[in-house]
Amino acid sequence: MGHKSFEEAIMFFNSHGLCKQMLYSEFDAILDGIVLVQEFASQTVKGAYVRVAPSLTIQSVVLFYLTFNEEGRADCKWNIPVQHMAEVAGRGPDLGDGHIRIACRTQCPVSWHQRLLWDPKPSAINELVLIKAALKRNKLRFYEDYVEPSPPQQPQQKPAAKQLSSVQGYQQQLQALRDQLDQRIENQQLKHENSVAKLDLELMELKSQLKKAEHEAKQYRQQLVQKNQEYQTSRKEMTRLLQDIEAQNQNRLADLKESITKKVEAKYRSQLNELRDLVKAKDVEISYLEDIDKQQQLELERLQQENKQLKITHPGDVLAQLAAKGVMFMAYHPGVGHVTIPVKDVDEYLADNIAYVAKRCFVSKEHYLSWRRHYENATCDATVSGKRCGQPIARVEVPREFEADKSNMCVDHQKAEKAEQVESGQPPQLKVSR
Ligand SMILES: [Zn+2]
Repeated sequence: MGHKSFEEAIMFFNSHGLCKQMLYSEFDAILDGIVLVQEFASQTVKGAYVRVAPSLTIQSVVLFYLTFNEEGRADCKWNIPVQHMAEVAGRGPDLGDGHIRIACRTQCPVSWHQRLLWDPKPSAINELVLIKAALKRNKLRFYEDYVEPSPPQQPQQKPAAKQLSSVQGYQQQLQALRDQLDQRIENQQLKHENSVAKLDLELMELKSQLKKAEHEAKQYRQQLVQKNQEYQTSRKEMTRLLQDIEAQNQNRLADLKESITKKVEAKYRSQLNELRDLVKAKDVEISYLEDIDKQQQLELERLQQENKQLKITHPGDVLAQLAAKGVMFMAYHPGVGHVTIPVKDVDEYLADNIAYVAKRCFVSKEHYLSWRRHYENATCDATVSGKRCGQPIARVEVPREFEADKSNMCVDHQKAEKAEQVESGQPPQLKVSR
């Protein structure tokens, strides 16, 4: 038949979709480093090895990674056996022409190559759909001269018609041209249908995304409502807990207050009782002391009375006894010197010793006191413009000889005093500053 049961294509993808397709022989040249791919420099690119069925559909596909260096040279160590893997690949999805076979990350027949493979996107329009569409467009021109296999008898009969006339030849050429034209129209239609299908798919994808988003929004709204309810519930719970705690605290506070009040009252009462006891004790003590005081007062009064009685009944008894025993009572006084006091005079002396001494000197008490002032400080008593004269004068030794306003003045003031008396005819006046 001259035709292989499949063709081999290599396709590459970037973030926008399918970006490059080539024959397997061209890919070999890239792997051998004969051809550089500038646009893939310094990148690891998603590639697909595709076995194409004569119906221009995917028979089998291997999705692999390939890294290029900064020059765009393919990794020389890359050695994924894509052809072998395509042969042993497992059952894949149905893209509308029956199930394809696929080797990818999650379905790798040679496990040690797994990490070098990738999975198609889970969305409706993924790399497999793009491959399918590209094969329909057939840019690589596979099977262009392919003829559907017909029953084996017919092609064998055709060679027998080699002796057809030139008219028949032209008719055949015309038919071929018609077929070509039909093929082209069909291709164009296919292309158009493909783009429509692609658009439909995109629309479906968008609708599905919209539905998903709506669903998510609904879920979020429900979650929000639920969260809000939960929040309200927990808020109520918290409020209740807080109220409980507050109530407990208030109870405890009241208990504490009561306990403290009781303690304070007990302490206060005990202190009050102690104080009362103390006051009582003090009262007892005071009353006891008052009793004693009263007794002592009474005793004193009694003794005084006794003494008085004794004095009245036996005056000077003791003194008389003392005198009889030769005891003398003597006192010293200026002006009289040592004075012997008879027993009968002791009471009088004791009552007013100055008056007693004055009497013994034969002068009045006042006279004796005036003399004594002079005797103790023998200076002039006269005053000159409010100031005492103070001139030393002769001391009068005996009280009876002391003359007021004379004995206590200096000679000058005695004279002045005398002249004044003559002038006024007044009796002499003693001017004593003290
Ligand atoms: Zn004088």
